[in-house]
Amino acid sequence: MNLQNRALLRSTNFIDGKWTAADSGISFAVLNPANGELLAEVPRCGSAETRRAIVAAEAAWPAWRALTAKRRAQLMQVWFKLIIENADDLAQLVTAECGKPLSEARGEVIYGASFVEWFAEEGKRAYGETIPSPAADKRLVVIKQPIGVCAAITPWNFPLAMITRKVAPALAAGCPVVVKPAEQTPLTALALAVLAEQAGFPAGVFNVVTGQPAEIGGELTANPSVRKLSFTGSTGVGRLLMAQCAPTVKKVSLELGGNAPFIVFDDADIDAAVDNAITAKYRNTGQTCVCANRFLVQSGVYEEFARKFAAKASAMKVGAGIEEGVAQGPLINAAALAKVESHVADALGKGARVLCGGARHQRGGNFYQPTVLADVTTAMQVAREETFGPVAPLFRFETETEAIALANDTEFGLAAYFFTASVSRCWRVGEALEYGMVGINTGLISNEVAPFGGIKQSGIGREGSKYGIEDYLEVKYMCFDIN
Ligand code: NAD
Repeated sequence: MNLQNRALLRSTNFIDGKWTAADSGISFAVLNPANGELLAEVPRCGSAETRRAIVAAEAAWPAWRALTAKRRAQLMQVWFKLIIENADDLAQLVTAECGKPLSEARGEVIYGASFVEWFAEEGKRAYGETIPSPAADKRLVVIKQPIGVCAAITPWNFPLAMITRKVAPALAAGCPVVVKPAEQTPLTALALAVLAEQAGFPAGVFNVVTGQPAEIGGELTANPSVRKLSFTGSTGVGRLLMAQCAPTVKKVSLELGGNAPFIVFDDADIDAAVDNAITAKYRNTGQTCVCANRFLVQSGVYEEFARKFAAKASAMKVGAGIEEGVAQGPLINAAALAKVESHVADALGKGARVLCGGARHQRGGNFYQPTVLADVTTAMQVAREETFGPVAPLFRFETETEAIALANDTEFGLAAYFFTASVSRCWRVGEALEYGMVGINTGLISNEVAPFGGIKQSGIGREGSKYGIEDYLEVKYMCFDIN
């Protein structure tokens, strides 16, 4: 890494406004998934350090909530500007620890920063309301108040944006936060803390604790001072954390796994569908929760779509994210590579055909070839589970009804996409898909002003948009007797 601002690279945690090591003095290694290089070592903290971060956050809360929303917004605007000013360095950090191409990493920094800018303003619009009273001598008023200390547990696939999507609405609402980033990607989180400190947030308002997931998560979920947990990650861990939050009845937001269908109807613009399929599938090496996981293609255009899609996929340059022109980086680690290999082996064993890829990339390491599989059936693992890799399984269907049934045949409900030229079908299919987000003739849907989140086992709550701040606010009803 060749950072212009070397101060962004930290190997200590940010707790109560101070940079600290683990109590034990033990650190763990952060590796570059493209080449295994040691990037840094960061503290292996556990429950004691987490408890201190929670105590600091709770101590900071009264003064933080007492500031006007406008003052909180001013601090957030400074943080936003610092993130933008350091965008190139932050992108390098993201690429180094997560592997995605530098252009994608830069896109993530801009996307992540946009939540800070958006919620700085949304904090000023945490409106209450008055309710017409059923009694002549009463006046009914609803106000919104910050929920209290919040915990954020985030994944490695968007090391910057998954943090700002949670921290920005929390801070804007008047809540302090304790963040536990993924162990694969703590460096971006710590760099965000460097910039938050520089922006001038009071001590304890924003804390980052790295280390043992189960220990830190155990404290964040059991500690009664934490009033809300926001988690992004796998459905399995989400279920566990939700159960751990039950004894203290915390508010919980969960952004979990997906199994996104990408439907191409006979009347679609096939070239546009192919271009969007490439983005929706291979972005971040297929490691995003909204990545198209199942391609459902109507029989009349199946062969044409398959041919054009496989040609584009096999032309993608695979390499380390910092290399020029690279469209697909490595998988995050050997376990992710093994999962992709086992899903492909299962599909081939049950009769799928390789149109391109289908094996590790010749570079070795964590690299896998962009892959397209034809003749896929619902009996295969790729149909039921999130592969979280660069594998596109193609299913053939005949009718719209069949496509909707296939698309909804999953316990997940995060994102779905479909391509058609028919306006009436846009409405029919859009309404029938059991998903929190639907892309119609587009494979890219996420931005700060729209609600992001899933239904069914893909999660609870929404991030971004005017809905995103609600999870960090309590509704208080006040009843006045005016006699
Ligand atoms: P993961 O669930 O393994 O890890 C996510 C976070 O949880 C990490 O910080 C990890 O350290 C932590 N964690 C793991 N076990 C824990 C425990 N016992 N207690 C407390 N914390 C624990 O997921 P991942 O592999 O890092 O991320 C990939 C998953 O995230 C995919 O399923 C993907 O779909 C999902 N995801 C969802 C969204 C969304 O917005 N819905 C966005 C990005 C990723």
